[in-house]
Amino acid sequence: MKQDKNIPYKVYLSEDELPKAWYNVRADMKTKPAPLLNPGTGKPLKAEELYPIFCEELVAQELDNDTPYIEIPQEIRDCYKMFRPSPLVRAYFLEEALGTPAKIYYKFEGNNTSGSHKLNSAMAQAYYAKKQGLKGVTTETGAGQWGTALSMACSFFGLDCKVYMVKVSYEQKPFRREVMRTYGASVTPSPSMETEVGKKILAEFPGTTGSLGCAISEAVEAATTHEGYRYVLGSVLNQVLLHQSIIGLEAKAAFDKIGVKPDVIIGCAGGGSNLGGLISPFMGEKLRGEADYRIIAVEPASCPSFTRGRYAYDFCDTGKVCPLAKMYTLGSGFIPAPNHAGGLRYHGMSSILSQLYDDGYMEATSVIQTDVFKAAEQFARVEGILPAPESSHAIKAAIDEALKCKETGEEKTILFGLTGTGYFDMVAYEKFHNGEMTDYIPTDEELAASLAKLPVVK
Ligand SMILES: *Cc1c(COP(=O)(O)O)cnc(C)c1O
Repeated sequence: MKQDKNIPYKVYLSEDELPKAWYNVRADMKTKPAPLLNPGTGKPLKAEELYPIFCEELVAQELDNDTPYIEIPQEIRDCYKMFRPSPLVRAYFLEEALGTPAKIYYKFEGNNTSGSHKLNSAMAQAYYAKKQGLKGVTTETGAGQWGTALSMACSFFGLDCKVYMVKVSYEQKPFRREVMRTYGASVTPSPSMETEVGKKILAEFPGTTGSLGCAISEAVEAATTHEGYRYVLGSVLNQVLLHQSIIGLEAKAAFDKIGVKPDVIIGCAGGGSNLGGLISPFMGEKLRGEADYRIIAVEPASCPSFTRGRYAYDFCDTGKVCPLAKMYTLGSGFIPAPNHAGGLRYHGMSSILSQLYDDGYMEATSVIQTDVFKAAEQFARVEGILPAPESSHAIKAAIDEALKCKETGEEKTILFGLTGTGYFDMVAYEKFHNGEMTDYIPTDEELAASLAKLPVVK
C-alpha cells in the first residue's frame, strides 16, 4: 500500500477530543426550514402541541432554529464513548484498485452492535425520555437498524421499548428482530391489529406487507394511547440531524488534525439524517461563506425524493396522524417496488436538507440498485468492511467521482459516509450474486399519481 506522508490509514480522535456540543446548522441558514404544521388547522405547531408525542427537551431541539451549539449532556457523552469517536479512514486500497489520483476518505459508523449511525440519535432520545421520567418509547423500524439502535439505547437507560416493524422486514429479517428482543424490546409486525390505524389499513389493504409510513402511524398512536410513553423517530426530524452532527464534527476535527480539507462530500439519503449530520459543520462554513464544498446526496432510483419528488407540504406517515412537513416528497402513499432491497425507502426527506437543496447548497443524484451492489462488492473486496446496502449508495457515487478524477487527472479529496455494515442484508447480497436482482424505476405516471394526493395547504 502506497501511503501519503503524514496521512495514516485511520485517523482517530482521542476520547477527550469527542465533541462536547452538537452543531445546529439551522442557526446559519438564511432561509430556515419550513415549520411543521398542524394538519387540522394548517398553522405552525406550537411546542405544547408536540408534547403528547415527543419529550419536552426534544421538542425544544426540534423547534430551535437559532442556537448554533447545543451541549451534549455528560451521560450521553459517556454512552458515546462505547462506540465513538469513529474512525476516519483513508481508502488507500480502494484508490489503488481504481487507479485514481483522487484521495478518498470515509467516516465509518458501523462499529457498534446496531451496525449503523442511528445509535447516535437513539442514545440521545432515550436519555431525554428517561430524564423526563417516562416509562418507555415507541417507534417504527423498516430494515431494523433504527429499532436495534433504539432497543440498545433503551436498555442502557432502563426504558421500555415498543417497536413496530414493517411486516415484510419482520418476516424476512428474523435476526434483526431477535437482536432487538435481546436488548429487551417488544417487536410487533406492522400493520397490526394492536392499533386503530393498523386495523384500518388492514381492512383497506388486506395482505399488505406494510410500509414505513404505516408503521409510523401505529407507533405514534401507541405512544399517545399509553400513559408515560412518547414516540421517537430515527431520521428526518431536525433533532435527529442535530444529534447526527457528531459524525461531521468528528470528521472535521480529524481532517483538521491532518491538515486536509475535502472537496466533495457524499452521503446516502433516506430521511437525510446521516447526510445531514456528516455535512453539518462543512455546510456551516459554506453558509457563512468561509469555505466551499461540493455536497452530493445519493438516493435510490426506485425512491427518488430529491431528484424526482416535489418540494411541498406532505404527511410524514400513511395514516396521516403526524404533523405536515415541507420537504421533497414522493407523496405519503408512495411505496417503493417490492424488488427494492437497498433501504432508503422513506417517501420524504429532512426539511433542513430539503431547504438547503432547494437553495442550491447541495446536489442530488440517484443510482440503481444493481450498480449499488456492484460498488458494495468492489469496496468489500479491497477495504474489507461489508457495507450496508444504504451506505453503498454513497460508495457508488464516490467511486464514480474518483473515476472522473482518473479521466481528468484531478487530485480531488472525496469524503463519504460509510453509515453501517450489511451483515443482516445477506438475502439481498444473495439475490445480487445469483443474478436475480432487478432494477425498478418508477414511471412518471406512477409518481404523478402519488403526488396528486398531496394535501392542499393554504
Ligand atoms: C437508516 C440508515 C440509512 C438512511 O437513513 P438516513 O436518515 O438518510 O441517514 C443509511 N445507512 C444506514 C446503515 C442506515 O441504517
